[in-house]
Order: sequence, then structure tokens, then C-alpha cells
Amino acid sequence: MATSVISKVELDKQFDFCLKVKELLKKEYPDRAPKAFTHTYGCQGNVAEGERIDGMLNQMGYEFCDDASKADFILFNTCAVREHAEERVFGNIGMLKKFKESNPNLIICVCGCMVQQEHIKKRLKSSFPYVDIVFGTHAIHTFPEHVYNCLTKEERIFAVPESDGVIFEGVESKHTNSLKAFLPISYGCNNFCTYCVVPLVKGRERSRRYEDIILDAKRLVAEGFKEIMLIGQNVNSYGNDFGETNLFSKLLKEIDEIEGDFIIRFMTSHPKDCSFELIDVMADCKKVEHHIHLPFQSGNDKVLKEMNRHYDRKRYIEVAKYAKEKIPDIAITSDVIVGFPGETYEEFLDTVSLIREVEFSSLYVFMYSPRVGTKAADMPDQIPSEEKSKRFNELSAAQAEVAEGRNLSMKGKVYKALIEGRNKAGKLNGRTSQNIMIEFDGPDELIGTFQNIKVTEPLTWILKGELQ
Ligand code: SAH
Ligand code: SF4
Repeated sequence: MATSVISKVELDKQFDFCLKVKELLKKEYPDRAPKAFTHTYGCQGNVAEGERIDGMLNQMGYEFCDDASKADFILFNTCAVREHAEERVFGNIGMLKKFKESNPNLIICVCGCMVQQEHIKKRLKSSFPYVDIVFGTHAIHTFPEHVYNCLTKEERIFAVPESDGVIFEGVESKHTNSLKAFLPISYGCNNFCTYCVVPLVKGRERSRRYEDIILDAKRLVAEGFKEIMLIGQNVNSYGNDFGETNLFSKLLKEIDEIEGDFIIRFMTSHPKDCSFELIDVMADCKKVEHHIHLPFQSGNDKVLKEMNRHYDRKRYIEVAKYAKEKIPDIAITSDVIVGFPGETYEEFLDTVSLIREVEFSSLYVFMYSPRVGTKAADMPDQIPSEEKSKRFNELSAAQAEVAEGRNLSMKGKVYKALIEGRNKAGKLNGRTSQNIMIEFDGPDELIGTFQNIKVTEPLTWILKGELQ
């Protein structure tokens, strides 16, 4: 098993398959374009892969629809991070059975992180016979070939190769958002946190070529995107596989220097690799927003060690403090897991105290979910679900207080925000540099522009404001 860069010859072969599929579809649908319905679950990395898959479907001649019941091709790009996400996907696949019964030409495809797991692949094979194509995270570039084979051969396709991961370039993504673009800088993960399935399903960490990323960033700016979000499971270790350290800081600086009216965000930062130098660079850059997503997972050192996180509470607080000193209006957000195996209530209280100490502006709280093949799934003292729910509620309530206090301190101040659209209440809404949602009255022409908004009424999860 090895990481491999997919060659141009192989990619050209796949682009040929796109053209062959297009020809076949023209015969099958002589009077209209065939319709595809695609849905991505999970992280930004998955969303970016989903956009490449949509780009390939475009090349095959598919148009897109929002209603699965009207589609000729349905694809679910899945997430394996928690059991809840997986069960939701199985529920949704179950609902497709009736569509297949009323339209036997419908092609149903399931791909992504879930199917990279052997037990899930088996379950799809035996319990969901109407799923036509299953392909794993290391077979995305061969998607056109699978569609071609599905159309020409009467057999189900299971393409789930074992690999440390692949990198391929040159596929034109179909972006879901016209203002904000995800720009992957690395794939996979080498950290093996004991609870996490990501390294098992997404493969080893592999960084994209520096020059390819810069070119992509320039292209996105030229295409008019107003926000570029650099994404990777651990952006701070970008380039470590080339033997470089702190290359992410250099990348950030170089993208910051690209001419144009746009902002830069990035995620996720791993506290063990988040250097003070990176914070200094953030402070110096003009376009990098004042927000860092820095998942701490637990405030207790014993639990952090068992999670294999390679930092302790003290180091985390040091980084957070430094960030706040250097960039006083920075927002720090985080992920946290409650009910990790063996976590006592007292240890959980260390997590509660950490969120009060760091004052996160928002927090994603997850109940620990055992994942097949991870170390934590086999650890003793698994915490009962009622206890996990209790801790979840307690931590969420504490965070609501923290966020409310933090937002209150924004009252009367003016923030620049990218205006993204109009919400259900009819207000324009955007996000401040700190990635906090702000809503206000204003005309449609402001959508897609940067505006200064004064905070008049800070609520727990959103700010209300006035256009300046
Ligand atoms: N690479 C990122 C996170 C990827 S997964 C990082 O290291 O921060 C996103 C979040 O899901 C994690 O931060 C963690 O809080 C949560 N998560 C991952 N595995 C989980 C599991 N087995 N149970 C519950 N939450 C989990
Ligand atoms: Fe999972 Fe840890 Fe890698 Fe994040 S750093 S993807 S939590 S193994």
C-alpha cells in the first residue's frame, strides 16, 4: 500500500469515460438531459470531494435536481465519523428502494468514508441489492469508469481498493456556493486519535503540491469567490510529508498577498502542531479572518493521553492565550467529546472548566461514538448513553452561557462582514471575521459584498445589527 499521485494518462482515460457515458446517455435520454441528485454528509473535506464528483457528473452530461424522486442518478457521499451519521445514511438509502421500483433505469451510488469500511461494504452488498455502485475514498478518480461499466454491464460495482491514499488534480469542481469556496491543501490524517476512524477511511496524510494550491487560490479569486477556506484534517502539518515544517504559515502568507477583495479562513488546526509562528502570521496577514478552530476534545490530561492527542491542558491554554494576546478580537472555536471510555465525572468537569477559562465563541459537542477498528472501541469502561447525554447537556448549557457573555461584549461595536444571503426572517445575513452570524435589514444588492455592521442586539448564537 502506498500513497500515489494519479498520472495524467490515467486521468485522461477517466475523462474519456466521461465522454463515452455522455454518448450512452444521449441515446438513453434523447429528449432531455438526465438528472442527478447528489448529497454529501460530513466534513468540509467531504463537501470538496462531493464538488469534484459533481464536476465529473457534469462532464458526463448530467444536470442536477433537488428532488431525489425525479432523478435518474442518485449519489450519497457518506461520513463515518459517528454512528449516528451512518445510521442516517442507511435510513436514507432505505428510502430509495421505492424510487428504484418505479424507475428501474435509476442508478444508485454510495461512496465516501462509510463504504471504505469492510463491515459497511458487506451490509450494502447483502441488505441493499438496489444500490448499483459503491466506491471508496481511494477510488473517486475512477468514478467515470464505474458509471460506464454500470451502464454497459448488468452487474453491481464494488470498487473499494485498499490504499494509503491517492492525490489527483485537474478535475473541475462544481461549487455549491458562489461566494465561498473550499480549497483542500491536504488529505488524510496520520494522527490516529484513539477514538477516530478518519485515518482508517481517508488514508495517510498527503499534502497537495504548494504550486497547485497557489494556482487554485488565484483561480478562485479570479472567478469571484469572496471567501477561500483552506481545508485539511490538520492544516498545521501541511508539508510535513515533504520534510518541511511550518510550510502552512508560508502558504497562508502567500495566499494573503494575492490581489483581490476576498478573505481567507482555514480549518482544522491541531493544537499539537499549532505554532506561535502561525498565530504571528495570522496577526500580520490582511485577509486572514480572526477565527481559529482548535479542537481540544477534553480538558483533562489523563483523557487527552488516552485519546493520543499529544498535548496537555497547559499547552492548549498557552496557545489559546497567545492567540488572544496577539489578536485580541480573535474567536476560538472547538470540538469536544464527552463520555470517552473511562472518563469520570470529575474528569469531565475539567472540560467544563476549560471552556470557561478559554471562553470559546462556539463549541461542537459530541457524545463519544465507538468506531470499528479504533483503539477506543475496545477500551474498558464504556460510558452508558444516558450518562453521555447528561454530560452533553451540561456542557452545552455551560457553553451557551460562555457564548452569550462573549457576544454581549460585542454590543455597540462595528464589524466587517461578508453578506451571504437573506434568512427565513427576511433579514440579510453574513458572518463577521470571528465567523459569528450577524443579521440586519438591507437591500439584496449587498449580497456578496463586505459591509460594516454595528451590533445592536447580541443573542447567544447570532448577532442582530444595523448597516453602517
Ligand atoms: N481532524 C479534525 C477533526 C475531524 S473529525 C481534528 O482533529 O480536529 C471532527 C470531530 O468529530 C472531532 O474533532 C471530534 O470531536 C469528533 N469525533 C471524531 N471521532 C469521534 C467519535 N468516535 N465519537 C464522537 N466524536 C468524534
Ligand atoms: Fe481524527 Fe485525530 Fe486525525 Fe482529527 S487529528 S482526523 S480527530 S485522528
